[in-house]
Amino acid sequence: MENTSPKTIKGIKIRTLNLWMILASCVLYILLILATIHASGRYTDMVAATREYITCEENAALVTQGSDFLTEQVRLYTVTFDPKYVAAYFTEANVTRRRDNALALLREYQVEEKPLEFLQQALDNSNSLMEQEIYAMRLIAASQNAELSDLPEEIRSVSLTAQDLALTPEEMILKAQEMVFGSGYQNAKELITSNITYFINSVSDGTQYKQQQSVLELSQTMKGQQILISVLFIENIFTFILIIRLIIKPLQIYVSNIRDEKMLEITGSYEFKYLALTYNSIYELNSANEAMLRHRAEHDPLTGIINRGTFEQLRQVLKTKSAPIALLIIDVDKFKLVNDGYGHEMGDRVLKRVAKLLETGFRSTDYPARIGGDEFAVILTDAGPEMEALITEKIRTMNEALMHPADDLPAVSLSVGGAFSKSGFADDLYNKADTALYHVKENGRCNCSFYREEAGDTSVQTD
Ligand code: GH3
Ligand code: MG
Repeated sequence: MENTSPKTIKGIKIRTLNLWMILASCVLYILLILATIHASGRYTDMVAATREYITCEENAALVTQGSDFLTEQVRLYTVTFDPKYVAAYFTEANVTRRRDNALALLREYQVEEKPLEFLQQALDNSNSLMEQEIYAMRLIAASQNAELSDLPEEIRSVSLTAQDLALTPEEMILKAQEMVFGSGYQNAKELITSNITYFINSVSDGTQYKQQQSVLELSQTMKGQQILISVLFIENIFTFILIIRLIIKPLQIYVSNIRDEKMLEITGSYEFKYLALTYNSIYELNSANEAMLRHRAEHDPLTGIINRGTFEQLRQVLKTKSAPIALLIIDVDKFKLVNDGYGHEMGDRVLKRVAKLLETGFRSTDYPARIGGDEFAVILTDAGPEMEALITEKIRTMNEALMHPADDLPAVSLSVGGAFSKSGFADDLYNKADTALYHVKENGRCNCSFYREEAGDTSVQTD
């Protein structure tokens, strides 16, 4: 497990990351909104340009329609002499005004000077053509000796030239017809049409250009929108990955670590690493406290070896084992004299020395325990009667060391009673070892004796 202090933690802070993500999202969304507004503007421009073009075409058609209608009426009048055509002509010219209105609308288009000149020319030509038409109508009226007061003011105000006045009615009709059917008239009309066509083409070029510009800008803006949406998508994926790596994954690991009662892995964001470190230090402290409490509960505070309670627990645990076991019960001889002669503190030091000798003198698989004031026990695992001599020798060596201390400790000796059990810690093993100890105490102390099954008694090994 990584051992880092909270000060040295390196990692991405969720708070900072969150701020950056919100900021990035806001910027991207604002850009997207702006791009959408721009696209909508370009779309409106495109629609407006298209509408402008259509209106322009419609007006051009109206100019032609109006002009053709006038031509038709004047021609019909010169052929039929029916005044209703005159009325229709002037209704169109003064009331309906399709041609003039359309021309006026066309003038409003934003075009360069040249096309406007052409339009103006068309207008002028159109007016002079009208004068020609009215003159033709005047000639017809004169040829028919029509009542002038029945005719519109425009015709009445026309005065025929002296030359025309001298013409016969047939000649007047012929001249009038020539004026509206002749090639001059036709050419003038065509000139007007071509001027208007030129003008319309200029307007159409302009609107087409506007349309193309709008389409171009619209497609560019849409490309920008696509890029922005892609970036937003990537940003979202990136955020999800970070959330998984920095939050979800560490949470899963932590839950599993806590469930398994393990320390936490230092992983994820800064905050999670900080939490893990804090948890781990609390965990370590708790474990240490637990170990200390357990050690205190299991061990004798004076000598540090296991206490009576643990000895009893071990006895229960070893009851069911099948391996052979040896038990030694050890008592310090005349220990009261040590306390009385050298003081209680010296007595404690002697007890510690005995414990130390038992701890170092036996195998690490054996259990030396302090089971009373000056009484000790050693449980030897996997130990049968064949080890009797070896154990006796060990006790002899310990007694040798205790009786000839190199320091200021008073000389003491141990009385040891032992017993063997063929499998596990037999119920009567303790009593047997205790009987053997009693035997030693009764027979001069400072010795080791083992309980004999066959004899039902103990034998004493002397130094
Ligand atoms: P024996 O050879 O028959 O065993 O004689 P003994 O004097 O050793 O008698 P016994 O074993 O009955 O005496 C045990 C003494 O150990 C009694 C008590 O004052 C002393 N004792 C018990 N616990 C402690 C302790 O923790 N420290 C000290 N210094 N003495 C203790
Ligand atoms: Mg004693």
